[in-house]
Amino acid sequence: MSITDEFVKEVVTYMRVFEYENERGAGCAFDCDEDGTPVLKFAEARANYEGCLTGYLHGERIIDKGIRKHVKEVFLCDCGSGEVPWREYDAQGIYLCKVCNECIDDRLGRYRPEILTGYTQADVDEPIEPDGEPVIADDRY
Ligand SMILES: [Zn+2]
Repeated sequence: MSITDEFVKEVVTYMRVFEYENERGAGCAFDCDEDGTPVLKFAEARANYEGCLTGYLHGERIIDKGIRKHVKEVFLCDCGSGEVPWREYDAQGIYLCKVCNECIDDRLGRYRPEILTGYTQADVDEPIEPDGEPVIADDRY
């Protein structure tokens, strides 16, 4: 197993596809399991699916095209959690890093809080000495 394989997961999904007899490419597709049993989250989807099973939907002949299998590769977080990461952006919309639930605290913890929550011009402005002298750098750091 290469380092790349370690962070890639194959996700397999299935769709039950029905196509109108007289209109190729048009019809209905339902998320389903391996056996073709649909996952129907909405009443409207259920009504459509039941229509499809009768062979007619909205008065049109519809054909059962069977189960389509889709395999897609999902990249996992490189922290090794096995979770799918998402991108985090700072308050200005600048990309910072990828994180998952496991590493979000660690990774975002490296940034100053105002980077994440937003800062105003007041946070950015250097203090200006009243006599116009340059600000002396703080050498403690
Ligand atoms: Zn992670």
